[in-house]
Order: sequence, then structure tokens, then C-alpha cells
Amino acid sequence: MTTAVTAGRLRAILGPVVHVDLERAVMLGELVRIGDQSLLGEVVALEGDSAIVQVYEETAGLAPGTPVRATGHTLEIELGPGLMGTVFDGIQRPLARLADTHGDFLGAGQEAVALDRDRLWTFAPVVRVDAALAGGGVLGTVEETATITHRILVPPHLSGRITSVAAEGPCRVEDIIATIVDHEGVAHPLRLFHTWSVRRTRPFRARLGPSVPLLTGQRVLDTFFPLPRGGACGMPGGFGTGKTVMQQQLCRWAQADVIVYVGCGERGNEMTELLTKLPDLIDPRTGRPLSERTVLIANTSNMPVPAREASIYTGVTVAEYYRDMGYHVALLADSTSRWAEALREVSGRLGEMPAEEGYPPYLSSRLAAYYERAGRVETLAGPEGSVTLISAISPSGGDVTEPVTRHTQRFTQCFWTLDKERAQARVFPAISLRDSYSHLTDDLAAWWTEHVAPDWPSLRQQALGLLDEAERVDATARLIGAEALPPGQQWLLMTARLFEDGFLRQNAFDPRDASCSPERQGRLLRLLVATHTRGAAAIAAGVSPHALRDSPAYAAVGRANSDIGDEALAQFDTLAAARDAAFAALELAAHADPAGAGGMA
Ligand code: ADP
Repeated sequence: MTTAVTAGRLRAILGPVVHVDLERAVMLGELVRIGDQSLLGEVVALEGDSAIVQVYEETAGLAPGTPVRATGHTLEIELGPGLMGTVFDGIQRPLARLADTHGDFLGAGQEAVALDRDRLWTFAPVVRVDAALAGGGVLGTVEETATITHRILVPPHLSGRITSVAAEGPCRVEDIIATIVDHEGVAHPLRLFHTWSVRRTRPFRARLGPSVPLLTGQRVLDTFFPLPRGGACGMPGGFGTGKTVMQQQLCRWAQADVIVYVGCGERGNEMTELLTKLPDLIDPRTGRPLSERTVLIANTSNMPVPAREASIYTGVTVAEYYRDMGYHVALLADSTSRWAEALREVSGRLGEMPAEEGYPPYLSSRLAAYYERAGRVETLAGPEGSVTLISAISPSGGDVTEPVTRHTQRFTQCFWTLDKERAQARVFPAISLRDSYSHLTDDLAAWWTEHVAPDWPSLRQQALGLLDEAERVDATARLIGAEALPPGQQWLLMTARLFEDGFLRQNAFDPRDASCSPERQGRLLRLLVATHTRGAAAIAAGVSPHALRDSPAYAAVGRANSDIGDEALAQFDTLAAARDAAFAALELAAHADPAGAGGMA
């Protein structure tokens, strides 16, 4: 760390924002340390001989005249082994370890280092002396957890020739594991970690298109509102809409190698619930704790707001770092509404002119700077990696026209809206078909046609068309009663019910149905669409919709999602054959006895 020099003295203290009379120049964005307690702050505005600083820690007790020291660097975090399974605050102070040594709460100004300095890792080099390496090149590996191999990378801005490299063996994060001599002949020692400014996007070689889905195992999302690897998604949802369960489902089942979870300013106890639950979750892929591939960043509402503002950038920087190792990373932020409130509060203290609903005019550019960092890329070292951003939003009163929701819609391609009414009716996951969307369905269609079904786009479209039509018919049914509808429309409502029970509903606690492979999603969709078509033909042949609904085949189709697992896909064919036989038998009966039970009088 750079030795800090005195840059000025405090003039005024306004909560998390302080004004400093400067004695020497500081940079915009430079970190400063304040007073004997060494409180951490960031220069956010410069006006002549004074600077405005947002302070990441509790400022109570500071007095005018307190010296402020400049550090010469911007808000940086440490990137190296030891991130996995650790809980950090928004400026990467490790919470659990600080609590070990300082009690439960973060004390002011504790210069806790992010990565444990004492822990021994086993470094295994993959380069030899004399190798030429560019930024992002792999020096060696460390088994960070049983699940994650951590590739030790040359920092992005360095390149040159390796002049020394450590032999395989134990080392600490600060030990020098290699030396690289750059093109000007300057030798740079390399360690297991390097630092990176959280506000700067980490470089990559090329951006790749949104052509591969980030499968979540959740049917309604993967099939109807697909998100690509490297995409960005907003997830609005109020209290009680199943947000926590949904996030846990995504952490466990999303096809990502690494999960970064950023908890922003939710009430302390809610956050504690998730933070205590997450590490206990078992990773279905490995049977080991999910924490082995999860990094947690937590800022409860009782921590100073500026650290909350920084937390999403800290999170996305960690995500980019694992992407650079060739991993697919999903970052869940909960909630970006709380994040935006932090921005608003700091802006208010800065005396800035507020724009919409009191948010600063740069709300939209800050959100853009965050979402721009999503992407599937060719990394500097060559392999593919991705950062997918999923942001919970909690618009107050469910008002989707408020600025955070609106701007998030501008910078994301998907919206997964959790619906209160569906949650109240206990239809989980409570994703609204009406208020959710994906702009990238067409980009992902090729993947589905290749891997799942050649006619996937038309199958999906038929299902959506049916559900859409059923909603309209349902509105009429509520006026005139379902029994007054023509038989074809009654059947439509019955099959919409099948879709609801057998496809849209997905019980997170049913071991067989908690996650659904794309193949099974395709099979289920085909089963349901064909059941509708086959039933409609039977109705045209004189069968009553009630006879179809009362047939055991109808019930079996509605249960297929939990009866037929991913390991037994052929059973879908058996079930479809049984359904066809049952409906054909009803047709025969209706033909033989048009006024009987099977037919329409
Ligand atoms: P929120 O975080 O939005 O307040 P939760 O995620 O805690 O809501 O969900 C509330 C309850 O809803 C859960 O305890 C659970 O019973 C039920 N629930 C939510 N999602 C699902 C799901 N996918 N499958 C089954 N039950 C669910």
C-alpha cells in the first residue's frame, strides 16, 4: 500500500460525506484515510481548494481540523485465492475474519486486508522461465476449493518474459511466485494476487454473441424468458413473492461455475438469513457445500451507505476476475433498488441537484456502467468466460415506472417479474407471464433447435399462443361462467390448467422437479401442446371436454413434471401413447353413443 501523505484537513462533516480543505492536490476517485482511526474515503468531487469525500465508515466522532491523508490510488480490491466462500463488505473487508478478531461489528478504520495473509496455498506452475506471457496469461494454478481451480494470472496491463518462477509447493498470497521482465527491461515481481480498481472494466480479447443460454433449470425462465450467458436481467419482486427461494434456486441450479452474491442494504436480519442459508446449501453438481464456488458481498442497511454504493462494482470486478480464468460467472445482486437509494442518499449529502424522484442525474450512467460489464468473452488468455448479471429490484409499491426499474430495463435484455398475485395463489415460481420478457429469445433459438428439438421455436410459440388465448377466454368465462363456453374453449381452459400445474409451477422442494433439464423442458412442452391438439381433435369428434379432463390420461399429463425425471425421458413417449389411446377410446365411445357419458348430448 502507498504511504499516505497529508493532503488536507476536514472542514465539515455531513454524515457519510465530508468536506476537506486541501493543502495539496488529490485526484478525483483517489482514496483517502481520515484521522487517527484511518477511516477510508473516496474523493467524489473537487472544487477549487476543497474536496468532497464519501466515507465508507461511520463518521460520528470526527471533528473539523482532522488530517486527511491521500493514498495515491483509487478504490481497489485484491484478486487472488481466498475469495471463495468468504463474506466481504462492499469495500472487500472480510466480515467473518474481522468479527473473529474484533467482535461482531466492524470497528472503524480497521485496515483489514481482504485476502488472508497467513493461509498456505499449493501453487503449481504451468509456465517455465523464458516463456513470453501477456496480460491475463496463466502462471500456474492453486486448488482454491474442492470445486474451483484458481488460475493465477499475469495482471492485465503487464506483459514480457518470465525470468523466474516458483517450484510447485506451498506459498502465501504475498509470496513472489514469478518475475516478469517487461519490454523496457523492468522486472515485476508477481504474487498469488493482484489489485484492480473496482470502477474499471477488466479487459478481454473479444466480445462473443448472446448465443448460449444461461440455463437455470427453471422451466418458465429457460423456455419462455431465456437469458444468455453474458446477459443482464432485472428481477422485480416485492416481499413474499418468492424472491429468496428463487435466488437460492438460481445459486444452486444456474449453469454457472461461480456465483457472486451481492446483498445490498436489505434489513440486517433478512440478509443474515440468506447469508447463513447460502453456505449451507448443497451444490447439486458436486454434493459439496455451495460456498466452495460462491463469493458473498454483504452490506446491510446499518452499514454506511457509500460502501453499499461500491458493493456492486466490487462484486462485478470479482466476477470479471473469475471470468478471466475461463469460468462462467453469475452475479446476483439483491437489491439494486437499495443500491440506488445509497446513491441518492450520498448525492443528497453532496448537495447535488436531484433529478427524478430525488435520484441524481447520473443514476442511469452508473447503472449503465454496471450492466456494460456483463458479457460472454474470449479472455486475454484465450478461453471463453462470461459474467451474467441478475439484479433483484424492489420497486416501492410495485411501481414499475419508477426510475430504477425503468433504467434497468434500458440496460438489460430480460425481465423476470415476480408477481404478488401468483405468489398469493401459491403458484411458484411466481413469474408473471404478462410482465416478464426476454429480448434474446431469437438469438438463443438456434441453441434450442440444435440441442433440444428442431421445432423448438414453433413449439414454444404454440404454447405461448395457447396461454395467451386462454387468458382471454378466461376473462369471458369469469363473466358468463365456464359452462357457457363452447366445448373447444372449455378444453382450452383445461389445458391452460395443465400448463400451469405441469409446466409453469415448479416446486423448489421436490427433489425431482427442483431443476429441469432443457431436454425435459422440451419433452414436457411437446407433451402439453400435443395433449391440447389431440384433445381438440377428440372434441371435434364429439367427445365432451369433461370426459377428457376426467380421463386418467389428463391427470397423468399434469403430473408428468414430477413423475418423470431427467433420467427417464423415454417415459414421455409411453405417456403420450397412453394418452392417445385413452382419447381415441373416448372418441369411439362418443361415436357409438353420441348422447352417452363420453360424448356431447
Ligand atoms: P420472499 O423472499 O419474496 O419474501 P420467499 O422466497 O421466502 O419470499 O418465499 C416465501 C415462501 O413461498 C417460501 O417459504 C415457500 O414456501 C414458498 N415458495 C417460494 N418459491 C417457491 C418455489 N419455487 N417452490 C415452492 N415453494 C416456494
